[in-house]
Amino acid sequence: MQTAPVRKELVLVGGGHAHVAVLKSFGMRPLPGVRLTLIARDVATPYSGMLPGFVAGHYRFEECHIDLAPLARFAGARLIADEAVGLDRAARRLHCRRHLPLRYDVLSLDIGASPKPWTVPGAARHTIPVKPIDRFARRWETLLDRLRASRSPQDVVVVGGGAAGVELVLAMQHRTRGLLVRFALVTAEELLPRHHASARRRLMRILHERAIAVHTGAEVVEVADGELVCADGRCIRFDAALWATEAGAAPWLAETGLPLDRDGFVAVDATLRSIGDPHVFAAGDVASVLPHPREKAGVFAVRQGPPLAANLRRALSGQPLRPFVPQRRFLTLIGTGDRYAVAARGSWSLEGRWAWRLKQWIDRRWMRQYQDLPAMPGGP
Ligand SMILES: Cc1cc2nc3c(=O)[nH]c(=O)nc-3n(C[C@H](O)[C@H](O)[C@H](O)COP(=O)(O)OP(=O)(O)OC[C@H]3O[C@@H](n4cnc5c(N)ncnc54)[C@H](O)[C@@H]3O)c2cc1C
Repeated sequence: MQTAPVRKELVLVGGGHAHVAVLKSFGMRPLPGVRLTLIARDVATPYSGMLPGFVAGHYRFEECHIDLAPLARFAGARLIADEAVGLDRAARRLHCRRHLPLRYDVLSLDIGASPKPWTVPGAARHTIPVKPIDRFARRWETLLDRLRASRSPQDVVVVGGGAAGVELVLAMQHRTRGLLVRFALVTAEELLPRHHASARRRLMRILHERAIAVHTGAEVVEVADGELVCADGRCIRFDAALWATEAGAAPWLAETGLPLDRDGFVAVDATLRSIGDPHVFAAGDVASVLPHPREKAGVFAVRQGPPLAANLRRALSGQPLRPFVPQRRFLTLIGTGDRYAVAARGSWSLEGRWAWRLKQWIDRRWMRQYQDLPAMPGGP
């Protein structure tokens, strides 16, 4: 409960993996005189680690989405269900689609990634984007209904051979067992280009055993109605195509005047503060940590939560910020949809049901932090 007069405004934009930790931290230890506002496009924010499990049918929607309303209440934050669309940095005002501009002393962005501006002709019209991930659960349910209703065999392709594409195609295949659906994975590079050959071999074998066609070196250059056209002339037929390639940055960031990296993500230093504006922080996929470049993955967004919370506190209290070094090596657990997973770390990999159970345990434990909140300080 807020007792001190409001002297500083902290505005959190997006309820991503790092901001949920900031909310929890401010709920556990409020900063007197600071008013917290969360602006979030979706009040149910997905946990990416469990999304393929949702697609496979192992989790219900509410098991893999955090309800931001109770979390914001716990943090003593105002929750505004709206979308940020611009920033007036001179006046320190955040512009939203519907709400009046919001004044801030410190602003933090954790809005994830957006679909890359469509450069492949026809892709926007004929494919289903996987990003932003907060919209994917509903898109999948619509597709599943369509597949269930179909009386003829259906071909589903996933474009993108990274971990997300691989997990998704395996999860979808598991979920549609018994239906007449064939799956294929199409990727411009090799499969799992950022993983070691040992994990890649295991997943190639599993995809093969599950009769999922894998087209590597297949750069899609055009999408027609029902057909992917590749640079080498290959044509791949489909009834439904999911677009799971690398994502881009929200286009409105380019108009904020904030320094961005060459892909349009907010350039921050090791303290997660913008290199060009001391009032702006960024974490998760939207941030490009210049001293520590990493791929876009939820594991980094999750780990940035606590140091981000600490540095937001320091910025609001006028204390020096502390740098943070993200992990370089970590355990990756790639689910295969059938309660089985491949575990990989550096050059070694293993697989089994135990790996799925470990993944489930880690994921559920993470979610519990934001679903089972302690009793509100000073209230029932
Ligand atoms: C199928 C799939 C599986 C994946 N599995 C894994 C995995 O197992 N492990 C892993 O490390 N990574 C995984 N990833 C990658 C992971 O999803 C992202 O790296 C992660 O979600 C990034 O977290 P974030 O906090 O940056 O943003 P997000 O989780 O995308 O959250 C951003 C939030 O901001 C909100 N928002 C967006 N724009 C605005 C706006 N303008 N105004 C207000 N609110 C806004 C959104 O509603 C959303 O709630 C997976 C991705 C996919 C597609």
